[in-house]
Amino acid sequence: MQTESPRKTGRYTYGPVPSRRLGFSLGIDIIPLKNCSYDCVYCQLGKTKNKVLLRKEYTPAQDVLADIEKALKNYMHIDFLTFSGSGEPTLHKKIGYLIREIKKLTTIPVAVLTNGSLLHLPEVRDDLMNADVVIPTLCTADEDVFRVIHRGHNTVDIRNIINGYIDFRKDFKGQIWLEVMIVRGVNDKPEQIKRLKKVIEQIKPDRIHLNTVVRPPSESSAHPVSHEKLQELKDILGSKTEIVVDFSETAKEIQNEDTLEMILAIISRRPITADDLAKTTNLPKKEILECIKKLSQKGKVMISEHEGRKFYTIRGIDDRTKGPQQG
Ligand code: SF4
Repeated sequence: MQTESPRKTGRYTYGPVPSRRLGFSLGIDIIPLKNCSYDCVYCQLGKTKNKVLLRKEYTPAQDVLADIEKALKNYMHIDFLTFSGSGEPTLHKKIGYLIREIKKLTTIPVAVLTNGSLLHLPEVRDDLMNADVVIPTLCTADEDVFRVIHRGHNTVDIRNIINGYIDFRKDFKGQIWLEVMIVRGVNDKPEQIKRLKKVIEQIKPDRIHLNTVVRPPSESSAHPVSHEKLQELKDILGSKTEIVVDFSETAKEIQNEDTLEMILAIISRRPITADDLAKTTNLPKKEILECIKKLSQKGKVMISEHEGRKFYTIRGIDDRTKGPQQG
């Protein structure tokens, strides 16, 4: 499970952060750092402090909901509410309740990033039934490689996990986007990926996301593979597969493009000031103004004045050039 970049906006929420896969994603962090059933060599959160399989209410569900409600009021543009963050979210025994309560508050889709280690448990599969997208990890079909990459809790068994995924797919009506993290020299051989493909064919995910170690890992010995290698493995895994890596040289560019798109989406809904954009996106005003400048240069955004304040509007929509709408 790859976590998102943290930008805390509440005790249990962060973002919304622009994400390639989930658009403008509000992170929900319900597990204290770092309780996890795995201790992945590529984890960007460092070593696991508490390797656990115990499900309990790690954080008070009512407080988490209060944070989410506040964020929904404060931010106009959220594409996904995403359970992710400082540990494995399915360890929280009230994650099912939280998803159901979120569904009463909003129609914004819910995603869960999970390492999948508990999906063999019927109660965990039930808990995730109301999510819209579940993004579980499966890096290998081989027990020995699984142990090297994830260093899971002693009782975690890869066959159990795979069977849990297969069972989950049978009942889950939402999308499953399977994440495959590739570590150089560990699970990057074509024969290994061919074996993994056979297992994935039984799981039947909607998409396969191929990733590699581009963020600083827990173990300095965990290295990324090249884009060419990912392309080779993608070809083996087939047409549902996409490479979702933010290679360092392109990461900032991609993030910037995502941010521009998000800002444009917000402006297209109503004229808005730079201050309100900063509040809505949780980005610094300086960054907002730079984005506005780029969008203006591309001819996508124009400025209108109302009561001495500058509003940004979409260029070419006549009724939006007259000033801000009420409400
Ligand atoms: S599953 Fe792995 S990557 Fe995700 S939090 Fe646990 S140790 Fe880190």
